[in-house]
Amino acid sequence: MTILSKRLELMTESATLEMARKSRELKAKGLDIISLSLGEPDFNTPDFIKEAAIQGIHDNFTKYPPVNGYLDLREAIAKKFKRDNGLNYTPDNIVVSTGAKQSIINAVMSLVNVGDEVIIPTPFWVSYEEMVKLAEGKCVFIPATIDHDFKITPQQLEAAITPKTKLMIFSSPCNPTGSVYTQSELEALAAVLKKHKNIYVISDEIYEHINFTGKHASMASIDGMFDNVITVNGVSKAFCMTGWRIGFIGASKEIASACNKLQGQFTSGASSIAQRAALAAMQADPKVVEPMREAFLKRRDLVLSLLKDVPGLKCNVPTGAFFVFPVVKSFFGKSFNGKKINNAEELCLFLLEDARVALVTGEAFGDPDCVRISYATSEAELTEAMNRIKVSLAKLV
Ligand code: PLP
Repeated sequence: MTILSKRLELMTESATLEMARKSRELKAKGLDIISLSLGEPDFNTPDFIKEAAIQGIHDNFTKYPPVNGYLDLREAIAKKFKRDNGLNYTPDNIVVSTGAKQSIINAVMSLVNVGDEVIIPTPFWVSYEEMVKLAEGKCVFIPATIDHDFKITPQQLEAAITPKTKLMIFSSPCNPTGSVYTQSELEALAAVLKKHKNIYVISDEIYEHINFTGKHASMASIDGMFDNVITVNGVSKAFCMTGWRIGFIGASKEIASACNKLQGQFTSGASSIAQRAALAAMQADPKVVEPMREAFLKRRDLVLSLLKDVPGLKCNVPTGAFFVFPVVKSFFGKSFNGKKINNAEELCLFLLEDARVALVTGEAFGDPDCVRISYATSEAELTEAMNRIKVSLAKLV
């Protein structure tokens, strides 16, 4: 008999972290593994941000911070929302948390009652489903396929809504597909949502600055949506600060104070020193992230051009984030050395063993026909990895 709670039994380990763990283990054994499994920029945190954190230590920002974040940081975030997204949040609408991941679970826990339905367009970021399960809500998945650039249509959304629908969670730019909803696509979805005043939306915009379309669109900025949207963002991706663990929301005062109440019991707020670093990031000219965005665009094009030469893969052209999400189902049923590949997970294990390249199965993101390739690594590593993948896949018969 397990001593652990039923709640824990329901949960699945994060597949992305699991793959990262497996590849670290193999690397530790001396194997030459190229890991394309994690959603993390390979660049360092900019020096001006590190210096702000060091200054924060010298200035004794070492006591418990306010649960919802330092006022000057929340003011800077409110300015960022106005400047970049046209959103009129005040510091009372903002809650700073230990990463966007915690911002999302705060919002889910604040809104979802047992049995409430939560619409999640598929493919989705791994943690959404698990968070809804923790809140004892019911996930309602809307499949978006590669033929529609992995984006859902207003008709699909309308058909998924029931009297029990409480929330929708999505990311744009999307992890894992790299798809970006345009302003008019969001407006079309909003037109459906606006007919249901009791439906809320978590708009996960953590990849806002890694967008190759030239324009980021925010759901909360659409007429009539502001009060029903929780806008999630953070510093992890744009400022290469994954380890600092700072994310934030902009939301109605009611939802913001609910999130504040929750994290007052869970964490007492985010690290004081990391908040000083995040303040420097928020006050910076957004142009500082431009070189990184350009580097990612170059890598995307490199990966797509190399994957073109791999028979059996079907790719779309991702317009944001740093992932390619090819359909790999043509390899299912094929074998290597008498061992059959039945699904994307087995294909990932084969590629880890044979090509020594770590990818993540699409199953974890709700699409078992695909695998996720992260291109957040050097061009040399990407070229080597794509060549290895091509050689290994050619062995499958
Ligand atoms: N949302 C998406 C779509 C992500 O890909 C990630 C991280 O991988 C997060 C949220 C969490 O970001 P953070 O590091 O701020 O917790």
